[in-house]
Amino acid sequence: LSNAVTGALIVAGGALVAREVRRFRAEMRRQQLRAEFAGQPVHRIVVVGVGFGGLAAVNRLGDLVSDDPRFEVLLVDRHNYHLFYPLLYQVATGGVEASSLAYPARTIVGSHGFGFLEADVRRIDVDQKCLETDAGPISFDTLILAPGSVTNFFGMSDAVERALPLKSLADAEHLRNRVVECFELASHEGDPNRRRTLLTFVGVGGGATGVELVSSLSDFICSALLPNYPSIVPSEVRLVLIEAHDALLPGWDARMGQLALANLRSHRVEVMLNTTVARVQDDFVETGSGLRIDTTTVAWTGGVRAEPIVNQLPGDRGRDGRIRVDECLELPDHPEIFVVGDAAAFYNPGSARPVPPTARAAIDAGTAAAENAVRRGLGQPLHAFAYHSPGDLVSLGRGAAAADLLGIVFDGLTAWIIRRGVYLTNLLGVRNRASVLLNWSFASIHERFIASFEHIPGVLRPAPTRRRRAPIRSVEPEDRAA
Ligand SMILES: Cc1cc2nc3c(=O)[nH]c(=O)nc-3n(C[C@H](O)[C@H](O)[C@H](O)COP(=O)(O)OP(=O)(O)OC[C@H]3O[C@@H](n4cnc5c(N)ncnc54)[C@H](O)[C@@H]3O)c2cc1C
Repeated sequence: LSNAVTGALIVAGGALVAREVRRFRAEMRRQQLRAEFAGQPVHRIVVVGVGFGGLAAVNRLGDLVSDDPRFEVLLVDRHNYHLFYPLLYQVATGGVEASSLAYPARTIVGSHGFGFLEADVRRIDVDQKCLETDAGPISFDTLILAPGSVTNFFGMSDAVERALPLKSLADAEHLRNRVVECFELASHEGDPNRRRTLLTFVGVGGGATGVELVSSLSDFICSALLPNYPSIVPSEVRLVLIEAHDALLPGWDARMGQLALANLRSHRVEVMLNTTVARVQDDFVETGSGLRIDTTTVAWTGGVRAEPIVNQLPGDRGRDGRIRVDECLELPDHPEIFVVGDAAAFYNPGSARPVPPTARAAIDAGTAAAENAVRRGLGQPLHAFAYHSPGDLVSLGRGAAAADLLGIVFDGLTAWIIRRGVYLTNLLGVRNRASVLLNWSFASIHERFIASFEHIPGVLRPAPTRRRRAPIRSVEPEDRAA
């Protein structure tokens, strides 16, 4: 034991000394560069957004210019943390604690010696090269814009008001609270119709997020809620997933959609394909064909559109609001502005469709934009970007997932292990990884978080004499822009 402790102390001491030596050498290099470039103007790169695209840009800038006095880098975001969206559905289903998915922006910039400002960008003055924020104006020489996206309700005001999106930690916790509250109310509800309404949960949108959410919800209900609510029997619970296309996971290999469909149906989820949503009311949702489903919980994962701030940029926009960028990820008429991630429409050479809005695409584009921003600052020619998708992965509940890697489609435990490995490697911070691993261990023995922090009886009970509003009001992009 004493040998092991001595060994560990030597390793830890060695690591500390190595870190100090690295710091010392970096400082020496910084001083040398400062003396060499004294009096030269500083090129200011501002990155907006600490999501996947902005984070990748900052990390690449850290590799390239953290020691270079010719560059100054500032990261701006309305939140002071990076949010790991891929596991949000597990927060919504009691599998993972919300705080494990957030990583402080200041830890990220601090490791590179860059600045951070928590501020909401309200206006982009492309001519003056200036951002107006709620913390004051910020000028830039080069801007890397990665503001992401907002939930797309396709202009349905009743969905905006009543459906529950999944785009923030608050959304995820609210959805979990709603599901748990429905079980609480149903457990002592005498009216069988009302009971059925409370125990019907509808997901809208059969893309990856909708499929993962509904699979996990089925798991949450069977393994964590039903055992704790003995007055509710499994046959009273109804789970529905509505998708407008003729298959789940539209845009992916058709076999992936079939695997997801088979898996959901084996868990008694009613999947309605070729079905649109026409109305979302407090106690029911109505499909385009007039079918009424009585429910008080509609989870909306129907898609995203670009964050409204990009509406201010000059250029071409698709129906989802994404602004078109050129092969170097710049705005065609404003080469000092790069746009990456969900807010950008980037077309691979020869492709008629923009690259889909995914974390991987945002990371690769953010990295490439950072390299081009430095080239621009040094007066060097820029490099064209191309995106190569590494494949698709989707979780299908406990021990199940489907994968499409290099054109090979498979499912089962192997896909599930790969999916979990990808989550863990992409999650930031040792603390967050350890916390998620611990949460997963508890979930595997049916220990999920089933307490609700919100008591919302007025919303869930019928009140025939008065119109009621849902407690959460999501804002449509157009409203926000206004
Ligand atoms: C529930 C869910 C699950 C997902 N799962 C996956 C998955 O498994 N795999 C995958 O590849 N993709 C997944 N995605 C998609 C992926 O998360 C996005 O494609 C990715 O986050 C886009 O990165 P981004 O940098 O463009 O934007 P984001 O990561 O959304 O970051 C944008 C940042 O900009 C900030 N911001 C926005 N506007 C302003 C403003 N005006 N002022 C200041 N700051 C601002 C925001 O606060 C945010 O921090 C998922 C998305 C969701 C919602």
